[in-house]
Amino acid sequence: MNCQEAQSKILNYINHNLDHEETKEFIEHIRTCPDCQDELEINYIVMIGMQQLDDGEILSVDFRKKLKEDIDKRYDEAVREEERSHSFRVIVIAFIVSLALWLLGRILAFII
Ligand SMILES: [Zn+2]
Repeated sequence: MNCQEAQSKILNYINHNLDHEETKEFIEHIRTCPDCQDELEINYIVMIGMQQLDDGEILSVDFRKKLKEDIDKRYDEAVREEERSHSFRVIVIAFIVSLALWLLGRILAFII
C-alpha cells in the first residue's frame, strides 16, 4: 500500500469500514510511515474528540496512547481474522481433495 492509498483509507479506518485485510495492510503502512501516521493521528483526534463532545464525555487527554492501543488491538484482530479464514479455506480444500480422491477410487474400482 502506498501513501495515497493509505491516506484515502484513513476515514474508513476510523469509522471501522475496512475489511480485515485492508485493516492489516493499512496498519502495516501506518507503522512504517510517519507521514501517514501523523495524518491518521490528526483525523483520529478530530473524529474522536467530536464524538466525545457529542456524547458529553470528558475529553480523553492522551489521544496518541488511545490511538496506539486501538491500532494494536485492531491489528491483532485483523491477523486473527485472516488466520481464521485461511484455516477455513484449508479445511474446504482438504475436503474437496479427499472427495475427489474418493471419487477417483470409485471410478478406478469400477473400471478395473
Ligand atoms: Zn505513507
